[in-house]
Order: sequence, then C-alpha cells, then structure tokens
Amino acid sequence: MPYKLLRGMVLKIWYPFLMLLGAFFKQRREGFQRSVIALNNRLVRKGRYGTRKILLLLPHCIQVNDCQIRLTHNIYNCKRCGRCEVKDLIGIAEEHKLELFIATGGTLARKIVLEARPEAIIAVACERDLSSGLVDTYPMPVLGIPNERPFGPCVNTRVDLGRVREAIEFFVHP
Ligand code: SF4
Repeated sequence: MPYKLLRGMVLKIWYPFLMLLGAFFKQRREGFQRSVIALNNRLVRKGRYGTRKILLLLPHCIQVNDCQIRLTHNIYNCKRCGRCEVKDLIGIAEEHKLELFIATGGTLARKIVLEARPEAIIAVACERDLSSGLVDTYPMPVLGIPNERPFGPCVNTRVDLGRVREAIEFFVHP
C-alpha cells in the first residue's frame, strides 16, 4: 500500500479511534498522540522530497515568557539575545532559507500554512496540537517534533535543535 494512503488511514481513522479511547483512558491520551506522531513521521520518512520550500512552525511558548517582544506577526522582531531558542531557530531558518513562523494556536497555524504554501512542514508543538495539526494538514508531508516542557505545559518550552536540523536535512536531500 502506498505510504501516503497508509498515513491517511493512520490520521483519519486510527487517530480518531485512539482519541475516542483517550476520552475513557485520559491518562493514556498523550501516549496515544505520541504514538500517532511517531507513526506519521515514520511514514513521511518513507518518501523522497528534495525541497527547500519548508515551513518551520513553532509554538508561541518557545519564547521565554518574560520577553516583551511580539513575535506572532514577525518572528524576526526577535533581538536574538539568546535567552531562548528563538535565536537559534532563526539562525537555522536563515542558514537553510526556510519560512519560519510562530503560531499561537491551530487557527493561526492553518492560516500560516495556507499563506506560506510550503511543500513540507516541520512542526514543533505539544503532542495534542501536533497530532491534530497532522490531521488538518494531511496530505502535506509534516514531520512533527514534540516540544520539551521542563517548566510544565505552555511555558518556556524547548526543542531539540538537533532534531530540527535533522528534519531539515531529510526534506532537503532527496
Ligand atoms: S531570543 Fe531573546 S529577544 Fe528573542 S524571543 Fe528569545 S528572549 Fe526574546
């Protein structure tokens, strides 16, 4: 079976089923979402892309919470002080000439995807937002990278920059 179709079945059939189960087993919900993201990534990696039209989509909570600069309209407003990974991610995006945006939620993320018209997406977010975003953007190839939450959800989150770089390399090199 083609991997794209299999991915569609995972996202449109298996994922809703797991979320239904998750309504009864709430403590397992995040694990279900993580498994869908991992399965999606494995199937996306079966394809060959060779594109530089990559959108790197970040959650707003990756910006340190006491930074006063608004990044949602223009991430390049960042002063690159280095207190959070936004500085590093701008550097990575510039190095590879990628589109880079911060989204404050699913609605804005969908709008960004429609406007940027990428050929591939690397999305960083929590498991909940990532898994639902994968469903919304299918059949676009998206590699999802769950964020790290050393201070709990939605505040001063982080991402493994090595994983971001590796995902870019994957899409760029066919
Ligand atoms: S790198 Fe500095 S200026 Fe840029 S978003 Fe982070 S804290 Fe704000």
